[in-house]
Amino acid sequence: MVQYDSIIDLLKKKNIMFLEDEPMSRHTSFKIGGNCKILAYPNSVPQVQEIIKICSDKNISNFVLGRGSNLLVSDFGFNGIAICSNELNNIKLISDTEIYCESGVNLPKLCNFALKNSLSGLEFACGIPGSVGGAIFMNAGAYGGEMKDIVQSVKYIDDNGQVLELKNDELDFSYRHSFFENRNYFILSAIIKLCTHDKYDIKSKMKDLLQKRKNKQPLEFPSAGSAFKRPKVGYAAALIEECGLKGKTVGGAQISNKHSGFIVNIGNATCEDVNSLILETQKIVKNHTGIWLEPEIKFIGDC
Ligand SMILES: Cc1cc2nc3c(=O)[nH]c(=O)nc-3n(C[C@H](O)[C@H](O)[C@H](O)COP(=O)(O)OP(=O)(O)OC[C@H]3O[C@@H](n4cnc5c(N)ncnc54)[C@H](O)[C@@H]3O)c2cc1C
Repeated sequence: MVQYDSIIDLLKKKNIMFLEDEPMSRHTSFKIGGNCKILAYPNSVPQVQEIIKICSDKNISNFVLGRGSNLLVSDFGFNGIAICSNELNNIKLISDTEIYCESGVNLPKLCNFALKNSLSGLEFACGIPGSVGGAIFMNAGAYGGEMKDIVQSVKYIDDNGQVLELKNDELDFSYRHSFFENRNYFILSAIIKLCTHDKYDIKSKMKDLLQKRKNKQPLEFPSAGSAFKRPKVGYAAALIEECGLKGKTVGGAQISNKHSGFIVNIGNATCEDVNSLILETQKIVKNHTGIWLEPEIKFIGDC
């Protein structure tokens, strides 16, 4: 049995901000998820190290939370510590074409910073509602671009609390995958390498891509973006549609009528609703097309 009182005392002593018994539905774009025992907001490297040490000393489960835009959290919540990157949000130019940014900076802010400095390469990311840390973890991408193309190096803390750095070619980037998948490490910061370009062109490309999203994606409903990864053959949305699953609903979860690749929360959806809909979709698509769709969404807690 974890003694949370002593952990809370430690967090207070180290001046680490935290919330207790916090509903994760408030911290995920799906608006789904039960209570997390402790949601901590470190604002420095030593504070992240302190939390990792507490988790290790007290044998407490933990996970890193970015903007929660790719997560499905259990209805039973998370019995441990979520370490949120939100307070790590410094961003600065370190050369004509390089930006240093901390993991909690959100992608739209990073994109605006690049635009302000006439730097091109990040246009693809301007509508992705995640943090830099989450985008590196996921190798987030869209419209022909991905983080892999622009991340020069990443600093992170491993599960022993050591600060380490990897260069792009060591980050094992591939489609929606990075070195960090299946490792419980905390991404601290990155250097982003862009190229100088005409500001007007960058702005108009961003505007164009944002409009494309608005036209195609069900942004009016809570979701976690694409529910499934792109399979080796075809597209998840097209396969789902081919199986007549567009609009299929389980409880409050629905295969979007606007974009079949999205599962949306149309009203009080639970994690169980989404999970059932994912499983049913996988089975039907497999029966019909022989393809098993892998979820892109990350599952937290006892889903
Ligand atoms: C409307 C909508 C549109 C979307 N469009 C796209 C799109 O076009 N392309 C795309 O790729 N994705 C898209 N997404 C999904 C999502 O926004 C991205 O995957 C994003 O990169 C996730 O970032 P996050 O900060 O929200 O991460 P979270 O959802 O908080 O976490 C995702 C994973 O990253 C890990 N993680 C987060 N931060 C860190 C860190 N600092 N250190 C270590 N691990 C970390 C988490 O533990 C988790 O495993 C979309 C989502 C929505 C809701």
